[in-house]
Amino acid sequence: MNKRVHNFSAGPSILPDQVFDHASSAIKNFNNSGLSILEISHRSKDFIEVLKESRSLALDIAGLNNEEYSCLYLQGGASLQFLMTAYNFLNSNAAYINTGSWSSKAIKEAKIFGKVTEIASSADKNFNYIPKRYDINEQYDYLHITSNNTIFGTQFHSFPDSNCPLFADMSSDIFSRKINFSKFDLIYAGAQKNLGPAGVTMVLIKNSLLNMITREIPSMLSYKIHIDKDSSFNTPPVFAIYCVLLNLRLIKKDGLDIIGKNNNLKSELIYNEIDNNKCFSGFSNFDDRSEMNVTFNLSDGYDGELFSKICNENNISGINGHRSVGGYRASIYNALPIESIKVLIKCMKEFESNYN
Ligand SMILES: *Cc1c(COP(=O)(O)O)cnc(C)c1O
Repeated sequence: MNKRVHNFSAGPSILPDQVFDHASSAIKNFNNSGLSILEISHRSKDFIEVLKESRSLALDIAGLNNEEYSCLYLQGGASLQFLMTAYNFLNSNAAYINTGSWSSKAIKEAKIFGKVTEIASSADKNFNYIPKRYDINEQYDYLHITSNNTIFGTQFHSFPDSNCPLFADMSSDIFSRKINFSKFDLIYAGAQKNLGPAGVTMVLIKNSLLNMITREIPSMLSYKIHIDKDSSFNTPPVFAIYCVLLNLRLIKKDGLDIIGKNNNLKSELIYNEIDNNKCFSGFSNFDDRSEMNVTFNLSDGYDGELFSKICNENNISGINGHRSVGGYRASIYNALPIESIKVLIKCMKEFESNYN
């Protein structure tokens, strides 16, 4: 691995070195079988073990009871979950909180299947905050939120109390902190932000939700079928699931408590610099700042090309903001070491010193 690159990419993103090491040796020889993980059957005993362990570890890390919840590994990204959730569970009217581009896309897909009530939105301020006030009453099939807004850099730090099932797109902050996962009835996360490589999506789903299904659902879009078939209705993404398993083992070892404290510390360091450096200004509302995607802008009158040059010289990669918002975004997922944060802060200070 080239250790000198500081990878702040929003996704696909940095993973722990140990994941890369183990994954690359499994490509040559998986479990001493003499076969590559890329060429074994998804019905082989070895892979069935991988699936089993990755399902039970995910539930274990989330503190969810495996009688009550199922863990699925599906394809199609979080984007397919936008419609799968609605196809399976939107019967008459579902509530959505719109906190950015990904929520908006979820809403767009859901409208194909039924009525959507946007009970709150932060679109009025270009999604720089998390709405706090809304009415949730029991008439909704479910309430859908996006726990972390990857593009805008805002994050729910507490979750709505709802009388209806609570669904969350946790693609960019799953297993980044200790939360009460049992508050949720369905959680999905595209793996490529904080879990593993692109190509697999984790779904944690409460089994009792299946009683809500009234439509006939095509097999590949049916949670019930994927649960009944243990995520192997068709060929699952074997290698991506294996990489997720490698990462889950590390997450389990460290524990969400420590991981969360570490992520909090990492984000505080950068936000502190943004707040104290005259060349930069933060984007998101103070109380709603994301601990995963730190967004900031250049203050007026400073030379962005010079900052880019300093970042390049220090091997900083991937800090440009999303193409839809511009500015900068430092994505600081679990695997990003604190050393990389310190290098970014050093660059920000060096940039500022040019103006003294
Ligand atoms: C990246 C992202 C998505 C889209 O994920 P795909 O796997 O590309 O479909 C959805 N929601 C959030 C919060 C994301 O960060």
